[in-house]
Amino acid sequence: RKPRLSPEPSHLPGTASFSAKKKMASHIVGYPRMGPKRELKFALESFWDGKSSAEDLQKVAADLRSSIWKQMADAGIKYIPSNTFSYYDQVLDTTAMLGAVPTRYGWHGGEIGFDTYFSMARGNASLPAMEMTKWFDTNYHFIVPELGPDTKFSYSSHKAVSEYKEAKALGIDTVPVLIGPVSYLLLSKPAKGVEKSFSLLSLLEKVLPVYKEVIAELKAAGASWIQFDEPTLVMDLHSHQLQAFTEAYSGLESSFSGLNVLIETYFADVPADAFKTIIALKGISGFGFDLVRGTKTLELIKSEGFPSGKFLFAGVVDGRNIWANDLASSLSTLESLEAVVGKDKLVVSTSCSLMHTAVDLVNETKLDAEMKSWLAFAAQKVVEVNALAKALAGDKNEAFFQGNAAAQASRKSSPRVTNQEVQKAAAALKGSDHRRSTDVSARLDAQQKKLNLPVLPTTTIGSFPQTMDLRRVRREYKAKKISEEEYVNAIKEEISKVVKLQEELDIDVLVHGEPERNDMVEYFGEQLSGFAFTVNGWVQSYGSRCVKPPIIYGDVSRPKAMTVFWSSMAQSMTPRPMKGMLTGPVTILNWSFVRNDQPRFETCYQIALAIKDEVEDLEAAGIHVIQIDEAALREGLPLRKSEQSFYLDWAVHSFRITNCGVQDTTQIHTHMCYSNFNDIIHSIIDMDADVITIENSRSDEKLLSVFREGVKYGAGIGPGVYDIHSPRIPSTEEIADRINKMLAVLETNILWVNPDCGLKTRKYPEVKPALTNMVSAAKILRKEL
Ligand code: GLN
Ligand code: ZN
Repeated sequence: RKPRLSPEPSHLPGTASFSAKKKMASHIVGYPRMGPKRELKFALESFWDGKSSAEDLQKVAADLRSSIWKQMADAGIKYIPSNTFSYYDQVLDTTAMLGAVPTRYGWHGGEIGFDTYFSMARGNASLPAMEMTKWFDTNYHFIVPELGPDTKFSYSSHKAVSEYKEAKALGIDTVPVLIGPVSYLLLSKPAKGVEKSFSLLSLLEKVLPVYKEVIAELKAAGASWIQFDEPTLVMDLHSHQLQAFTEAYSGLESSFSGLNVLIETYFADVPADAFKTIIALKGISGFGFDLVRGTKTLELIKSEGFPSGKFLFAGVVDGRNIWANDLASSLSTLESLEAVVGKDKLVVSTSCSLMHTAVDLVNETKLDAEMKSWLAFAAQKVVEVNALAKALAGDKNEAFFQGNAAAQASRKSSPRVTNQEVQKAAAALKGSDHRRSTDVSARLDAQQKKLNLPVLPTTTIGSFPQTMDLRRVRREYKAKKISEEEYVNAIKEEISKVVKLQEELDIDVLVHGEPERNDMVEYFGEQLSGFAFTVNGWVQSYGSRCVKPPIIYGDVSRPKAMTVFWSSMAQSMTPRPMKGMLTGPVTILNWSFVRNDQPRFETCYQIALAIKDEVEDLEAAGIHVIQIDEAALREGLPLRKSEQSFYLDWAVHSFRITNCGVQDTTQIHTHMCYSNFNDIIHSIIDMDADVITIENSRSDEKLLSVFREGVKYGAGIGPGVYDIHSPRIPSTEEIADRINKMLAVLETNILWVNPDCGLKTRKYPEVKPALTNMVSAAKILRKEL
């Protein structure tokens, strides 16, 4: 039996209304789920706060899904994804589908409901959430599955099927998207108590039966294509891991009869061995590749050849950025591929899910027409994909292509983009070294003389809860509804409250609470030149949290001081040291939409120079402790090992540029978020910060294991003592216990006590008792030392 390759499932009922139009070979890997104005976020949060019902939430979700499907169908997209919606996270959805709920959540079978689902995602009154980690090198976070030899798998969430049916009822035949079984297992971790050496891939034979049930049900519902996302294929995999793909898909092959199956990869090149493995799979109709980040895939396809009769889904439209596609260049790429795979086997696609880009440029009221002509958000990318597909099919929209070419040309030559002076200064940094002249232990001594801190000094990461009032004040000031004076007074009052609270709590190194900041990157971007801002360019970060990355379109410089006013005001309110609070260059870069017309390191050096000016202005204003957050340093790490050291070199260099000019007595802190650091610990040390506060509590003390294994660390370090992502209040004992664990591997005199991250998403009734317990734990332990 031959797998049916016909892409036109014309026999399917219910596709009539849209199949009437001739559709070109166009495909979208996935689509943002939050909605153009973050409708899902507000619906989720209102539901979590008990202000609306589950039905209300489901209604918002269904409306979003239907408008997305209709939009893609109207644009003429042939392969429209379904099951890319999620109430929290697509990996958690897969955990639910497989019924792999950790036992502590007390689920006893049956279809998984909101209760169990959101407990795993966010924790509940008595249980912490499951671990969350970065989705590859994006700023999206997924919930890490916890699996072990005893994990029972059973088909427990029919979401993929219901979404497929839902779309079909609207007259739209979709391609259900599932996270592939191998990537799912490779992204999992062994559950607590399971040996670290446990082979997660050994669970393959247990998950495949569930996948088979899902596939059978999708098929019965009328699906003619299924997309398996297997992004781990772009990683450096061992041969036994590659072998798992062969096992998995040959295990599923019998279920594929009568179906077209797409294996989708994204975020980087597929290495040659992985490429060979997947194209040899039987029963697969098509393969999707990221041709934007995967710069070598094209060569690979041309040299290795592509199996005849299979579809190539060519990801030429960037799902990770907001720049308009260079249509002429994409078209020539596509034409060269057509020569390899054949005209009717080439499908135009996005490089990855569009969930990593902003939703719709139509809602951007503040960007000028020139800037808008340079951009394309998800909705526009859908149109680009279709325009390319039509052009390939000989139906090129000349006007659309000409408009695009004109926009590309205007971006290249615009004086808004280039600042010669900045270009020169940044170019001069390349290849040189920038370091503070004294070593860290001597600097710490000099700082201690000035700061006079107790052992186990306590601090927080920067932000305090952002109340509704605060958000309103900032909004009204932006909208010029309140005067600058009123605004300054309101923020001043907030800072003063936060300072008093920290004094009452007896915290040692204070923060001003960041009440003037909407977002740690946007706040700086707004004050730097070379940045543009959207009003609705939100991208999901985790759960209901979204970020609105600035757009770096031109050379970056700092017209004037950005934080000195607030930091010196805060310092004037207290005799305790007040941390100046900055976002580092690498994080600004990694959390922005970065220009794609020069290498990323050049843009990073430009930002580093701007932050350096700020650091020095803060120091001159009498701020002796300055924290330069590099929350996102880890996530910019290229997925492939061969590219990592180059990145780490320029990233760490950029960080050092910012503070190489300060005095020994000025204490430089940095902070990093939720990630694994073990592999880059030497780069972290090479950042040469005086103190690093680092997320730790949700990663099972993975971080501490590096020190246990003997990595020498002489600078100050504050591994987070409690999780701020959950509303749960940690007890004094629990925190003391954590600190003791740290003391077992780290010198007493370098250990700091702090939460995992900033407190801005928490509420005061959670923050006050949590910090009270944190300070008591530090005090109890100080007595014992
Ligand atoms: N200083 C920032 C804050 O506390 C750091 C946030 C972060 O690391 N993501 O909010
Ligand atoms: Zn953080």
